[in-house]
Amino acid sequence: MEPTRASSVLGYPRIGPRRELKRALERYWHGDDTRAELLATGRRLREATWHDLGAKGLTQIPGNTFSFYDHILDDALLVGAIPARFRDLTRDLTPVDTVFALARGRADVPPLELVPLQGTSYLYRQPEFDEASELGLRPGELLAEIARAREVGLEIRPVITGPVSLLLLGKASPDAAPGFTPLDLLDRMLEQYEALLGVLEEAGVTCVQFDEPCMTMERTPAEIDRLRGAYDRLAAVPARPRILVTGEYGDLGDALPALAATGVEAIGLDLVHGRRTAAELAAVPGLAAKRLYAGVVDGQNVWRTDKFATLDYLRELRAVFADVVVSTSCTLLHVPYDVHAETDLPAELVESLAFAEQKVAEVVSLAHALEDGPTPRWRPLPVLPSARREDVRARTARVDDDDKVRVPYAERAPRQAGRLGLPTLPTATLGSFPQTVQIRRARRDLAEGRIDYARYCDYLRAEIASVIRLQEDIGLDVLVHGEVERNDMVQYFAELLDGFAATRNGWVQSYGSRCVRPPILYGDVARPAPMTAEWTGYAQSLTDRPVKGMITGPVTMLARSFCRTDLALPEVATQLALAVRDEVADLEAAGTAIIQIDEPAIRELLPRRGADRRAYLDWAVDTFRLASAGARPDTQIHTHMTYSSLQVMTEAIEELDADVTNIVATRSIEWVLDALTDHTLTRQVAPGVYESRSGFVPDIDLLHERLLRAVDAVGVERLWAVPDGGLKSRYTWQLEPSLRNLVTAARRIRRAV
Ligand code: GLN
Repeated sequence: MEPTRASSVLGYPRIGPRRELKRALERYWHGDDTRAELLATGRRLREATWHDLGAKGLTQIPGNTFSFYDHILDDALLVGAIPARFRDLTRDLTPVDTVFALARGRADVPPLELVPLQGTSYLYRQPEFDEASELGLRPGELLAEIARAREVGLEIRPVITGPVSLLLLGKASPDAAPGFTPLDLLDRMLEQYEALLGVLEEAGVTCVQFDEPCMTMERTPAEIDRLRGAYDRLAAVPARPRILVTGEYGDLGDALPALAATGVEAIGLDLVHGRRTAAELAAVPGLAAKRLYAGVVDGQNVWRTDKFATLDYLRELRAVFADVVVSTSCTLLHVPYDVHAETDLPAELVESLAFAEQKVAEVVSLAHALEDGPTPRWRPLPVLPSARREDVRARTARVDDDDKVRVPYAERAPRQAGRLGLPTLPTATLGSFPQTVQIRRARRDLAEGRIDYARYCDYLRAEIASVIRLQEDIGLDVLVHGEVERNDMVQYFAELLDGFAATRNGWVQSYGSRCVRPPILYGDVARPAPMTAEWTGYAQSLTDRPVKGMITGPVTMLARSFCRTDLALPEVATQLALAVRDEVADLEAAGTAIIQIDEPAIRELLPRRGADRRAYLDWAVDTFRLASAGARPDTQIHTHMTYSSLQVMTEAIEELDADVTNIVATRSIEWVLDALTDHTLTRQVAPGVYESRSGFVPDIDLLHERLLRAVDAVGVERLWAVPDGGLKSRYTWQLEPSLRNLVTAARRIRRAV
């Protein structure tokens, strides 16, 4: 049995407290650093984490939580799942370069698809499987890490995606036979995991953690059976470490009794998002005999744990389970490192926050208290006096259904067409243009006091003017101002709205080297002043063509922030929607006839289980409608979605009642066009015809061909020609030829109709 006061966390951030990994990756990719330098940074980050976790008093330290790019991709490579299309490319590569080859692709080999890890804002590279997948264990890296930890006197518990979730997170490769699903490979996958257990045993590992995040989602009885069969089989391996299976991000549902019936020694439960009473858990046959990793500290939010209430709960659990390890609900990957690195947050707010380091301390402190009772240093959670605004509450209380309806599309569409006078198959972009070196420098100079705000605005205006000139010259029909004033599509608005706090150093990995700083939404949201109208209005004053206004949508603002937990999400969403609604009115007043309300993250808040989904979709749709329905009938409302949102919430997207839906479509253009053929969307659509984030310049013929397919799917009358996302990560020399080709391809089609 574990010593008392047992504590652990299910995983830890890995980008480094100062984003050391990001910098190291970029230097390596640009050729400024050698591979040896990159590997050394990786080693340092890994070791610093173990030491830190050990020093904080955790009795068990998770290992293998570091990754140079994505842990799910690493785990696919651990079992040798290299899709056939990458085999030539990776033949002679080192392990780390193999990761980058799959994650980043090459000119003629597109990378693995980047997809959301459902229920989080983390994106992973989706493994691909088919009948011919050649699996084979490659434990070299993992064993090296275990050995290295041992050299410094630490025992780690390797964290690895479990076999069932690894397959469920993947997809059938383009070479797979029709009807193939990755789970068909389970038996062969289990051979690899059996071998892995043997190898770990030999390396002296005493406990291994298999994460099964897919099991906290809706699953069929057949899938639950496969899970049970899988762990029966792994538990039967004669010489092996103890097995911990975790269900992160929610409730395991039927998977819990299935796992409890197997011979695995330990189960990790997310008791924050999948809270169960001790009595409910006691009723699951076989469960109480397992070691329970009680995930009571929230790994997905930044608020301090209510330690008194949590301790009571832990005591109840302890009455049922003899063996309790205090732990987190999931890996701490999704929260920033350290609150104390924040110098600008309001002091009263800091008191309420716990980032990864503080959460580890909470876990340790709770584990001690479970034995010894609370220490006198424990304080109740502070209340935030500034969080409540009566004017905001009064306004949300007045919202009614009429605020969420526009005149019918059939009436608005001709009025918009008359006002805009656009050609068939209009061409446009999605909003952002590159953030130039000058703009970034000006922003830094402003922040550090070297220039004043008026001077900064001069830079912005000059940049907007040049972006407008460029678009006119290219011949686009609808222009944008380029979003030059925005550091980020969420943070920019968060900084201008009351109720949000922005961090300085609160970086969280989104994928690979890409990190974001989610703002902290702690109080009632209000908009003290217009946020974008000045810039869009200025852009419009420079051109006769329509300039589209850009606002980040209320649901995306919510999904990409750390949100308060003392107010129901739909209520917070209503506050955000009203702020956006006011911005829409100000944009209209500035002469804007097209307004795009971006909702790329609308799917991220979708509950993991079907039963809760309808309720979410209802309020998410309501939120968007409240934000947009104040618009005049002759104002055209656009939105921007990912194709995966369209995939899982098809009808809801129609209910948003946007006039034009832009879709991130490139990698799955086939899928989007199929969905559109089925007429799920009856309004205008803009399926992105090339990937704006890639450096690849599509030629006219390719764009023409894709547009023709889209014409086949939806007809030319309601089609737009656009790239699939913003252009801020590109250079002008890349985006200019792509957009010129797009305009030419669209004109070619226009001439033919
Ligand atoms: N307006 C945003 C941009 O161009 C659109 C991106 C998005 O919705 N993800 O950057």
